[in-house]
Amino acid sequence: MNWQSLGLRLARHLDLPPGEIGAIPARGGDINRSVVLELGEHRIFVKTNRAQLLPMFEAERAGLDAIRRSATIRVPGVYMTGVESGLAFIALEFIDFSGRPDPARLACALAAMHSNFEDRFGFECDNTIGSTPQPNPLSDDWIEFWRLHRLGYQLELARQNGFGSRLVDAGYRLAENLGGFFDDYQARPSLLHGDLWSGNQATDAAGNPVIFDPACYYGDHEADLAMMELFGHPGDRFFDVYREHFPIDAGYGLRRELYNLYHVLNHANLFGGGYAAQALRMIDGLLRH
Ligand code: ADP
Repeated sequence: MNWQSLGLRLARHLDLPPGEIGAIPARGGDINRSVVLELGEHRIFVKTNRAQLLPMFEAERAGLDAIRRSATIRVPGVYMTGVESGLAFIALEFIDFSGRPDPARLACALAAMHSNFEDRFGFECDNTIGSTPQPNPLSDDWIEFWRLHRLGYQLELARQNGFGSRLVDAGYRLAENLGGFFDDYQARPSLLHGDLWSGNQATDAAGNPVIFDPACYYGDHEADLAMMELFGHPGDRFFDVYREHFPIDAGYGLRRELYNLYHVLNHANLFGGGYAAQALRMIDGLLRH
């Protein structure tokens, strides 16, 4: 990447005096190369990847913009997406993260974000979960959406990746029988972050919760809550405060496993190994229900 050239482009776009341009490699996430670009006093967080992956950054932008428009929780502002020196990039507002978010403040903010409803499930564009494509066609039926575009999509990938028919067949059997998990429960299309593990949450210097790196769509708020419990746990205080603002249905404990199965299947498809065995255990448990 020619950081000088990207720096000048961003300085023009943001109407900043370019000053001295510097690029400091940042400790990256799992998917992209990250750099803190310094334009004089101004810092910009830039993620880069192969040029073909520009739509991934454009979808990240659409998600960050949707959350920002909800005016409920801080997300990095997006300055620009594009291609420079043969690489796709997203240029984000740099935020000085200082540790984990306060559970009560995070709960209030996420309950407010989840209270932004749309008429249908899905999103304005497809995006990615990890590096896996995530289809978000607009849909009136949440159970169908989860069956086809979440579990079904990952099960088809699992089949292509050569996972045993035991996992794939059992997974499809489950996907064909989701109705029983939604007795007396009507999911609503809430604005979701979509990939809300603890690594995508932080706090800013003023103590405000911040979320980033989303895979947004409109879906059941329980799907976001479930993912917060998949790798770690936000704590009881989080749930106590969340419930004061957005009730959690009694059947959440059961559906949590169904929602997290999507992410475990995705991990199996991305990383293989023990995740496939974990997915099979989850499917067997859910089928027993
Ligand atoms: P990836 O898309 O590769 O998973 P992330 O968006 O998760 O990358 O970012 C990787 C890390 O970079 C985060 O864990 C966080 O510490 C840091 N980071 C991400 N966005 C910003 C930002 N806007 N400002 C400052 N640091 C950031």
